[in-house]
Amino acid sequence: MVKIGVLGLQGAVREHVRSIEACGAEAVVVKKVEQLQEIDGLIIPGGESTTMRRLMDQYGFIEPLKEFAAKGKPMFGTCAGLIILAKRIVGYEEPHLGLMDITVERNSFGRQRESFEAELAIAGVADDFVGVFIRAPHIVEVGEDVEILAKHEDRIVAARHGQFLGCSFHPELTDDHRMTQYFINIVKEAKE
Ligand code: GLN
Repeated sequence: MVKIGVLGLQGAVREHVRSIEACGAEAVVVKKVEQLQEIDGLIIPGGESTTMRRLMDQYGFIEPLKEFAAKGKPMFGTCAGLIILAKRIVGYEEPHLGLMDITVERNSFGRQRESFEAELAIAGVADDFVGVFIRAPHIVEVGEDVEILAKHEDRIVAARHGQFLGCSFHPELTDDHRMTQYFINIVKEAKE
């Protein structure tokens, strides 16, 4: 069985744990750098990317997470987690982890639509997935090795770059675990 970590510094941590367990995998809430040794893949949850970044600095997570990625371990960022993974953030000079070859823009669906749900066709996952968007970012641009998995109103909202998976929405907030399962399959393949 694979062990999936959820970065547990801030945000929708428990919901991801529930979704991982619903898929029959083992979930570990990662609060300390040492715990990265025991997991096969990591989910960075939604929340607030600037707050999460501050805590990542405080607990010394930035370099260890880059090393985790350099070992080929899969990482999945949802919403704020997507921003944390991105190589480029519109309006910012420096990224956070800077691992996934995408450019993201924060809070990009407009104030009047702070949160909404939309049915999405996600390549390799589902053609009727209900995405929950909460002050969501979107992917403005992708590098050539990035596969676009889903769009909403012409905006990219899910993509995969090899071991890195990211989406604008919150797949853990519904009872549809197919997106989580898709990530777990990536982790299983990487482990083999
Ligand atoms: N707006 C948040 C940010 O920029 C992300 C929101 C979320 O994760 N639901 O970090």
